[in-house]
Amino acid sequence: MQNVVELKQVKSDQIQWVTMFFVATFHIMAIGALFTFSWANLIAAMITWWIAGSWGIGMGYHRLLTHRGFKTPKFVEYFLSLCGTLGLQSGAINWVTTHRIHHGFTETDKDPHSPRNGTYWAHMGWIFRGTAQNQDEATQMRYAPDLMKDPVHRLMSKYYWMTPVIAGVILFTVGSSLSGTLFGGFTMVLWGIFLRQVIGWHSTWLVNSATHLWGSRRFETRDDSRNNGLIAALTFGEGWHNNHHAYPRSAKHGLAWYEFDVNWLQIKFLEKIGLAKDVYAYNFEDKHDEADAMQKAA
Ligand SMILES: [Zn+2]
Ligand SMILES: [Zn+2]
Repeated sequence: MQNVVELKQVKSDQIQWVTMFFVATFHIMAIGALFTFSWANLIAAMITWWIAGSWGIGMGYHRLLTHRGFKTPKFVEYFLSLCGTLGLQSGAINWVTTHRIHHGFTETDKDPHSPRNGTYWAHMGWIFRGTAQNQDEATQMRYAPDLMKDPVHRLMSKYYWMTPVIAGVILFTVGSSLSGTLFGGFTMVLWGIFLRQVIGWHSTWLVNSATHLWGSRRFETRDDSRNNGLIAALTFGEGWHNNHHAYPRSAKHGLAWYEFDVNWLQIKFLEKIGLAKDVYAYNFEDKHDEADAMQKAA
């Protein structure tokens, strides 16, 4: 039976107060972190950023769970999804639903975060007032049925906020024992959870705002997507967004040799050690050689 779901207007009147409170608190704590630098804190933030942003959001939520650009054993899928929960961008089910709607209705009034509705809206306004990340069950069932049928994904999506809490406790313990003071533990939490989280959020949000506004366009897609090297550097390769909108299922976003794509290299690594298979990659350079050869022959 076809599941018919009428998507609501994305700019709903309902203000997401809880989201607002947490995003504001995280920003205040992140500013506090800047006064407590240490090399250990910086390393803690880099490692958690990499786990959450690259393994979790980029490889897990986006390339594996949303677009199914490769396959992994279940335990790897759950592990990447767990890394994604550290990124505090809701659970996989909400994230995948939102992102599949973004691809299905890009730059229309149903797109959860199109800059055509305002740059600030596309960047972060949409999580405070929109229906996105808070969809009802019928919408989740329509757009993420694969995950909705999986009890482990349902459980992780429900309690996604627990991962940063547990990570915070671990960082507090590590920071305290390294510095010999409880304050050292606290500052490591400021860096590894709060500051890292704020940087991680804005990096992801820039993919929704900046890479639909600024950068180059290799493919004439119907949307405004762009390739932006700066955003790609901040997001482990997610900034090659015009390539991605042209070939959404491709697990490889950086198509030319100079388009550095860390997430793709890691997926290739997983394939090499036998933890990823059926990896689909759009092969731009081969296709280009073919086109050149055909032109020469003509
Ligand atoms: Zn997009
Ligand atoms: Zn996508």
